[in-house]
Amino acid sequence: MDEIYEGGCFCGRIHYRMHGQPMFIHCCHCTDCQRQTGGAFAINALIEAERIEIIKDEPVAVTMPTDSGHPHDIYRCPQCQTALWSDYGRRGWMLFIRVSTLERRAEFFPDVRIFTRSKVPWVRLPEDAQIFDEYYSTKALCPLKALHGARQPG
Ligand SMILES: [Zn+2]
Ligand SMILES: [Zn+2]
Repeated sequence: MDEIYEGGCFCGRIHYRMHGQPMFIHCCHCTDCQRQTGGAFAINALIEAERIEIIKDEPVAVTMPTDSGHPHDIYRCPQCQTALWSDYGRRGWMLFIRVSTLERRAEFFPDVRIFTRSKVPWVRLPEDAQIFDEYYSTKALCPLKALHGARQPG
């Protein structure tokens, strides 16, 4: 049985469950993530969409433009507007869960730090972190075969 992780938005209108562990976790320091979150970085857990079960209500998609031209849909609570996950490039089958919307958020650690070229200077990365100026080779790093050949998220 896969472990179940509870998640939701700030106001409680959206409640979801993540079934099992994510495939890979990004800590993204790109300027898009900084602007969109108002923070120094975003922590995104890559997981198959079928492993996310929406328990209560339905998030709404807000489309963001990207440099690559592929649409980036952010799914938000219609009431409090908390961002719950992203679908980069409208793949449909894979979501980027905002790790901090999980109740057990502290149990998840980033596998890679990406777009560190725009990292704010006061964030210090651990010595053993896998660090990438921009993106990384999914073929070399990502454990999931299905990700091979997937478009790079912006
Ligand atoms: Zn909400
Ligand atoms: Zn980013």
